[in-house]
Amino acid sequence: MVIAIDGPAGAGKSTVARAVAAELGFTYLDSGAMYRSVALAAREAGVDADDGGALGPLAAGLEIDFDGRRVLLDGHDVGDAIRTPEVSADASRVSVHPAVREAMVARQQELIAAGRYVAEGRDIGTVVSPDSPLKVFLTASDEERARRRAVDTGEDVETVLAAQRARDARDIEREHGALRAADDAVEIDTTGLSLEAVVGRVVALARERGLA
Ligand code: C5P
Repeated sequence: MVIAIDGPAGAGKSTVARAVAAELGFTYLDSGAMYRSVALAAREAGVDADDGGALGPLAAGLEIDFDGRRVLLDGHDVGDAIRTPEVSADASRVSVHPAVREAMVARQQELIAAGRYVAEGRDIGTVVSPDSPLKVFLTASDEERARRRAVDTGEDVETVLAAQRARDARDIEREHGALRAADDAVEIDTTGLSLEAVVGRVVALARERGLA
């Protein structure tokens, strides 16, 4: 079973999903880390992020695991390597290819089937788990999202804003697994809201629905 938390980059999904999972005793699943791992593996193998034909088999052959807060790619901790600006940009490019998405969605569904998860991404409520009993779509203004990411990465806000616009456009416009709120998602605009307020709202929804 999964609580789905979708939304654009910088809307607060990771922090909120982690905190909700901790509070409810669920496991946190970072689906973005999986697409980032594909991007990293492609770089290492010298495969272009636009080469869908080569990326499908490459993605299907990867072993991506989560061990507490660590992300393991074929057994190696790639937690830092997948967060560089280059891999961020490549992740949004590799994730447009249907064969890459198929492989990642299958792996996510396999994980979710085996426990109680809070999963964050772009398509958890629409594609990975359309029958999720609680779908949340988090948003925030473009500037607020860029400010948050800049604090995390140490880049300047204008640079982050430009990269974010390019990633948003690719996420929204792609044909498969496009970023959009499910019809039955609860939308929360986190601009100006504290982390506690957002987490409290999601936890309350989970309890109201008898999920915890
Ligand atoms: O969430 P995060 O920024 O780590 O995701 C990295 C990239 O992976 C995103 O820009 C997006 O293109 C892609 N992604 C996706 N589907 C998901 C999660 C992430 O396409 N469920």
